[in-house]
Amino acid sequence: MIKVTKTFLPPQEEYQAILKKAWDANWITNRGPLIQELEGKLKSYLSVPNIIATTNGTLPLQIAIKALNLKGEIITTPFSYVATTSSIKWEGCTPVFVDIHPEYLTIDETKIEAAITSKTSAILATHVFGNPCNVEKIEAIANKHDLKVIYDAAHCFGVSYKGRSVFNFGDVSTCSFHATKLFHTGEGGALFTKSDTLNDKLFYHHNFGHDGPEAFQGIGINAKMSELQGAMGLAVLPYMEDILNKRKIICDNYTTAFKNSSLQLLKIRKHTDWNYSYYPAIFQDEKQLLKVQEALMKKQINTRRYFYPSLNNIIYVKKDEKVISDHISKRILCLPLYHDLPITDVQRIISIILEQL
Ligand SMILES: *Cc1c(COP(=O)(O)O)cnc(C)c1O
Repeated sequence: MIKVTKTFLPPQEEYQAILKKAWDANWITNRGPLIQELEGKLKSYLSVPNIIATTNGTLPLQIAIKALNLKGEIITTPFSYVATTSSIKWEGCTPVFVDIHPEYLTIDETKIEAAITSKTSAILATHVFGNPCNVEKIEAIANKHDLKVIYDAAHCFGVSYKGRSVFNFGDVSTCSFHATKLFHTGEGGALFTKSDTLNDKLFYHHNFGHDGPEAFQGIGINAKMSELQGAMGLAVLPYMEDILNKRKIICDNYTTAFKNSSLQLLKIRKHTDWNYSYYPAIFQDEKQLLKVQEALMKKQINTRRYFYPSLNNIIYVKKDEKVISDHISKRILCLPLYHDLPITDVQRIISIILEQL
């Protein structure tokens, strides 16, 4: 059985050697030495001024909305994982969907201004599949209309744009370190901001508002990453270069095989150092997609309809047609991609797909 993704597990003895430190210190959560070490290493690996490790990649979105004190309407993308939209609703705000660019699949910045009303407080966009949004245009729009910007950068571990980490754009960026993501801590995530003041605020929010054992700086929640998660991150991090190199080879194989076919492939924004986080292919219609998915399934090869349905259609939002996102989400399939997927299997997947086109 070939899965669409596979978690990279470091050698067990290496994980255990790191865990031993937690046992020796008898300290498994509350920002112990392993979290400090992981945050330090990630800061330099990613070239970011601040990082707060969190227990997953969803709470950071909710904390960012809370910390920026957002109210009313938040402009967002319909083409993302459900957590992007649910976080907005969970925080009592209203998601207002703006359609996506047909090739980059990120929010179409040229359509944002038309969606701004007197109730708009922010833009929450996703750098989908690690492909950055048009961060410059979005920043200009936000400045002009006095809006905050949050990026759901769950897919963006290691991505840089014009030589800077993509996590350094917007007021806050969030990442997910879930087991299915490129870099992982089992469950996990992070908050990023360039602003030290905002970083303090996010920090209080992620730890009950605690300012020492007896004082509180406002309301908070518990989003702390545990030492056990931190140990996994420390065990995985040394393998990232190797993982990226292997994924690049697989992606290059797919691209070479498909570039003259009828499949539409993800267009990566110029000046991006991409991370090979997903390999989406867009079919001509849903019928063709289903035919390919079934042909692969017959050979025990799994794919995933990422992202389907388009989030403007989920039950708890006001239904609002978004022509491009609706159309693409019906036709897009993510192909198997993980560090030890053999190239012979990649070739087999390619042949099965090409046969069905
Ligand atoms: C995975 C993901 C999340 C949620 O992250 P978790 O760590 O699973 O909570 C949020 N947004 C996007 C775009 C994702 O892909």
